[in-house]
Amino acid sequence: MNIENILRELNIQSENYGTAIGKRFFAAGDRIVSTSPVDGKAIASVKTTTADDYEQVMAAATEAFAQWRTMPAPARGEVVRKFGDKLRQHKAALGALVSYEMGKSLQEGLGEVQEMIDICDFAVGLSRQLYGLTMHSERPNHRMYEQWHPLGVVGIISAFNFPVAVWSWNTALAWVCGDVCVWKGSEKTPLCSIACQNIIAEILYEEGLPGGISCIVTGDYRVGEMMTKDHRVALVSATGSSRMGKIVGQTVAERFGKTLLELGGNNAMIITPSADKAITLTAAVFGAVGTAGQRCTSTRRLIIHSSVYNEYKEALTNAYKQVKIGSPLDENNHMGPLIDKDAVANYQATIDEAIKAGNHVLIEGGVLSGEGFESGCYVKPCVIEAKNNQSFVQRETFAPILYIMSYDTIEEAVAIQNGVPQGLSSTIMTNDLRESELFLSAAGSDCGIANVNIGTSGAEIGGAFGGEKETGGGRESGSDAWKIYMRRQTNTINYGKTVPLAQGIKFDL
Ligand code: NAD
Repeated sequence: MNIENILRELNIQSENYGTAIGKRFFAAGDRIVSTSPVDGKAIASVKTTTADDYEQVMAAATEAFAQWRTMPAPARGEVVRKFGDKLRQHKAALGALVSYEMGKSLQEGLGEVQEMIDICDFAVGLSRQLYGLTMHSERPNHRMYEQWHPLGVVGIISAFNFPVAVWSWNTALAWVCGDVCVWKGSEKTPLCSIACQNIIAEILYEEGLPGGISCIVTGDYRVGEMMTKDHRVALVSATGSSRMGKIVGQTVAERFGKTLLELGGNNAMIITPSADKAITLTAAVFGAVGTAGQRCTSTRRLIIHSSVYNEYKEALTNAYKQVKIGSPLDENNHMGPLIDKDAVANYQATIDEAIKAGNHVLIEGGVLSGEGFESGCYVKPCVIEAKNNQSFVQRETFAPILYIMSYDTIEEAVAIQNGVPQGLSSTIMTNDLRESELFLSAAGSDCGIANVNIGTSGAEIGGAFGGEKETGGGRESGSDAWKIYMRRQTNTINYGKTVPLAQGIKFDL
């Protein structure tokens, strides 16, 4: 992979501006340097957004909304279709940049761009299906129906681990709904944001549309706060830690704004005696070590039936020996680096805490050094025997640490699975219909995602994505998730010659 060619194709310079209104890039803030966790090298620098820059963005976005909302939704869908086509052209380069700047495998980087293409296709169809209902009025000669209108400016705050897909999950839907978008990507992956902005800005320019339809801002939580406190931002869609979501949720609620929160997970797999061992092992290991455990849907807990607990301990030990760690750009490797040294310190601190608490470490972790690991961000995946109520098990550590525990009855397994503050993804491995149906029933998993015989990670865009409890309750992507990007209006039309009142109320003059 030639990183210079990739940066050139995506129009990324060695020094960049992190504020953009369509094609117009500018910024007067501090400079941040994006460093690759793959090899520890500086890739390029980006100037961050100041309060004055932000004001310019909001003025342009608000003005663009006045025009964009009047364009027919299928015509907006046509713009999104062209965006999807451009993403197809740049898939290889953008996927490689995701891999190099964030550290996930090249396959997963390309997969992320494919998800962007998929959501564009979905949104194009959706642009002709923004349906409202019609109702029968109780009053004579009246017609009643509801329709959906765009909200205005949608502010998107996103996490480092899906540096491009989460933006498109939001924008593709928001744009066909008639909203304009202002995006603050993670300060850890600013080049991915600039690359995406370059792609959509070119289309807006070619179509003669205002650049304010797509804007980016760059910086840390202080730039995020500009959006959460701003009453002009109708919806804040925030993806990140539960800690961040709690602050964002409260700030936006204070001004009666809308939020879509996609926060941390603590995802479990229940392994029953009837589970197919081969698929269970593959799903468990991919779920725990894929993306170096840095997916919101990564598998963090295995809840294993006591009759097969020892058998799985041995099988896991053998399976983990096969995991190859190294540059994510090399397709032979299963696991790349963590995002940065802070993440490594957090990983190590959690393992130390478990050891101090007297837990048995089944598969030892540790930080890797030497040739190929110069960035200092590569770690070994670790498996620890634990109890569900231990404090380090209850919180999400964004790293490849897997906790294993045993259960005796299916009801106990479900209670363990639900016994954490988060509620994103869950799965049961079973060939027993009673167990799987219980798991999917109202008395079963309390998560937004509940699977049978597949892992906890890896979702398709067609379903609504999100989770309950401290995961935030938001849903984005497929199904009817588009409704959060619109406001609902109920309309009643009287085509008679009197004004009858509802509920039989009489009022004669
Ligand atoms: P993070 O919470 O540190 O940061 C996420 C984003 O929020 C960043 O852009 C950051 O600048 C911004 N931010 C932080 N504090 C803010 C504040 N007070 N006001 C406004 N913005 C603020 O998360 P991260 O380390 O980048 O990502 C990892 C986390 O994201 C994990 O918890 C993971 O589970 C979660 N995540 C969830 C989903 C999901 O769909 N549920 C998807 C991806 C990641």
